[in-house]
Amino acid sequence: MLEDQTCLVTGGSRGIGRAVAEELGRNGADVAINYRSSEAAAEATAEAVREEGGNAITVQADISDYEQVEAMRETVTAEFGPLDVLVNNAGITIDKKFENMTKNDWDRVIDVNLGGAFNCTHCFFEDIKSAENGRLINISSVVGQQGNYGQANYATTKSGLFGFTRTLALELASEGSTANCIAPGFVETDMLETVPERVQEKILRRIPLNRFARPEDVSGIVRFVASPDSSYMTGQVIAVNGGMEW
Ligand code: NAP
Repeated sequence: MLEDQTCLVTGGSRGIGRAVAEELGRNGADVAINYRSSEAAAEATAEAVREEGGNAITVQADISDYEQVEAMRETVTAEFGPLDVLVNNAGITIDKKFENMTKNDWDRVIDVNLGGAFNCTHCFFEDIKSAENGRLINISSVVGQQGNYGQANYATTKSGLFGFTRTLALELASEGSTANCIAPGFVETDMLETVPERVQEKILRRIPLNRFARPEDVSGIVRFVASPDSSYMTGQVIAVNGGMEW
């Protein structure tokens, strides 16, 4: 389904990004797996892709640093040629009630979640634009749709991705490339582990399907959006949240 496609997954070492990298590789794409510090986990993801017959490399870069992203582009291009599919997945949380949130807590989350999406998209924009099956896929969150107590910084970045996606959908459309956002609900990854158990229980009561998502619940949707099957869909926010109201 993704033969001859080159994909970059930011934050592909763990969690949702790892599942996405494996899914894209399994479906024939060449996959570049970005990480910030978890080298061994990124290598394990690449190895998992290779074990299933796929082609993968790992590439270290802090996506909040434009120069590091430029260097990442050079590595990916040298190995695989121009990019077809960018999955802006890497993200962080620094959760605090707003009154306790420092300027640094605010800036860091904005710099990684929104600044990182800008940096990666900017560096690969021409590739995506000129690709036959160019795809920009931004991983947002249900929290961007409904807000969440203690996540003013994070929710702002995840809402920001909606406007970013819709605007770039317009700017890519003349070339037939697309931009879409996926907004997962709460997914069983290290990120969810940081949420206190009593809060997790509260969240669970709001999920009609009565379970948290598994990374694979998201990666299958990413595979569809990355594929030519989604070519008439652009500027959309796809909720994958177990039926949570917002
Ligand atoms: P995770 O398990 O905490 O993994 C985060 C990934 O992002 C890791 O691969 C990490 O790399 C990478 N990363 C963090 N900062 C980075 C930076 N500055 N530069 C490059 N890579 C960086 O997170 P996750 O739960 O899979 O979440 C993935 C995405 O889905 C995020 O955008 C998150 O907001 C979104 N999301 C998650 C949930 C959820 O409930 N888990 C729900 C909705 C949306 P290292 O391993 O090197 O640190």
